[in-house]
Amino acid sequence: MKSIKNNEHQKQEKKDIKQKIMMFDRLGNECLTCHAPFDKMNKEQVKTWTVVVREKENKIHLYCPTCIEKAQQIIKDFKERKLNEQVKEKASEEIQETKDGSIGNPDSDNTKT
Ligand SMILES: [Zn+2]
Repeated sequence: MKSIKNNEHQKQEKKDIKQKIMMFDRLGNECLTCHAPFDKMNKEQVKTWTVVVREKENKIHLYCPTCIEKAQQIIKDFKERKLNEQVKEKASEEIQETKDGSIGNPDSDNTKT
């Protein structure tokens, strides 16, 4: 029994190491978005590529410089659009407010007993 338990423990440790190797393995494949090949041994690539570690999901995301640039552009666009939307929302809110004023008061039910 004891020897089996020991084996089990060793297995667990091996599993841990294997998991770490797998993490590293996942890092060295390709861009998550465009699947451009990533070469761990290429210093230039290592410098310019972006690694995003998601500890919660136990995942490593790898992005090539082109995709990161695109992503940043999208985020910038998104922010600008969001700002525009906020302005629009504010405007529609104000319109709604004036509308609300013409709607009768919903408290009128209180008079019923
Ligand atoms: Zn890419």
